[in-house]
Amino acid sequence: MRLRPYVPLVFVLAAGCGPGRAAPPDPAHLDAVARRYVVLGLSLGRHDPNYVDAYYGPDSLRSVAAADSMSVSDVRAAAESLIAILGDSAPAYTDSLVTLRHRYLRVQLGSMAARARMLGGERLTFDEEAQALYDVVPPHYGEAHFDSLLAQLDTLLPGRGQLAERYQRFRDRLMIPGAKVDTVFKTAIAACRARTLAHFPLPPGERFDLEYVKGTPWNAYNWYKGGYRSLIQVNLDFPIPLDRAVDLACHEGYPGHHVYNALLEQALVRGRGWVEISMYPLFSPQSLIAEGTANFGIDMAFPPAERVAFERDSLFSLAGLDPSLAARNAAVRRIVEGLNYARNEVARRYLDGQLDAAGAREMMRRYWLITPDAAAKTLRFIDTYRSYVINYNLGRDLVAAWVERTGGDVVAARWNAFHALLSAPHLPGDLR
Ligand SMILES: [Zn+2]
Repeated sequence: MRLRPYVPLVFVLAAGCGPGRAAPPDPAHLDAVARRYVVLGLSLGRHDPNYVDAYYGPDSLRSVAAADSMSVSDVRAAAESLIAILGDSAPAYTDSLVTLRHRYLRVQLGSMAARARMLGGERLTFDEEAQALYDVVPPHYGEAHFDSLLAQLDTLLPGRGQLAERYQRFRDRLMIPGAKVDTVFKTAIAACRARTLAHFPLPPGERFDLEYVKGTPWNAYNWYKGGYRSLIQVNLDFPIPLDRAVDLACHEGYPGHHVYNALLEQALVRGRGWVEISMYPLFSPQSLIAEGTANFGIDMAFPPAERVAFERDSLFSLAGLDPSLAARNAAVRRIVEGLNYARNEVARRYLDGQLDAAGAREMMRRYWLITPDAAAKTLRFIDTYRSYVINYNLGRDLVAAWVERTGGDVVAARWNAFHALLSAPHLPGDLR
């Protein structure tokens, strides 16, 4: 029963893509691969509850996955069979978007097979895992790099005590009082949405619901539900610093995850009937685009100077905080963004067995300047999501460089480039 869908599939693709045929391949042949890809992804999700981040496609494919009841090794073998059918490179379709589709299915299936191998017990190094799951090689940074960033931060935060204490005291002055969190967030979300809408239209009826939660390994999460709707959850385990409002509103909402999912649904699922896009596998190359655009989306909606002005003139007073901190906080944040790569280094050394849990927490406190509680929480995140951490900073930097190369200094051209990235099945290879 498990083999049922791919026997005819081999035939139709071989007939369409075989050597010696002058006519371009029939793009409709990819529909069968796409359906099987979704079933395999849903099947893997039955073994790995974090694998399928979103699925809003047909219930019938979920039923097939349930009926097939595949093991992880079955999924791996089936994914590799589909890869063999697709070949190493996409043929020349008449429609370049279909070429992207072919390649998307091929690369996503490679990552799915790797995730299945990992779930089956195969051990990969951090760098091998990043390459296999996200199709990128993360850079390495030594202590000297982070020490130089800490030295820059030191000059911005003069005073008594260790730098970590001074940084924490500064951040403590930015914490939003609990009763003001919802108002500050909703104000930030409205501003991010308006700034996105100023550059491109959003699908009709799009919206998201906002919920506050505790006890999760992440700080915030966008759960895309289909129909241009999301549920965005914000974790309240720790007080939230003011600049997280714009960060989260852009990253999870506009023009980040919510918009990315809604535009893909509009253009590809509804516009083209491409079922594979209705399933978003978290541990896959698509996540580098998703996290990279979500993080660079903050800079798209709020270029640095405009962000300082908005936070100073609107959010600080809404939260009852001192607006004179806004500019200095922006300078501090720029350096701390560089320190975000320390999390990758901690994750690499910890997952490769070069640091134990205590050593990992200590290195995070030293180079990421976080409190012991936050370091413990970050380690929980790394235990769950592993090399996924690279998608945030490396993804952001790759997307930033690509948008800047493509759009230059012209604001409208940069937004066009960003929109193109959000509404087609792009992968990390496109950013290189
Ligand atoms: Zn994200």
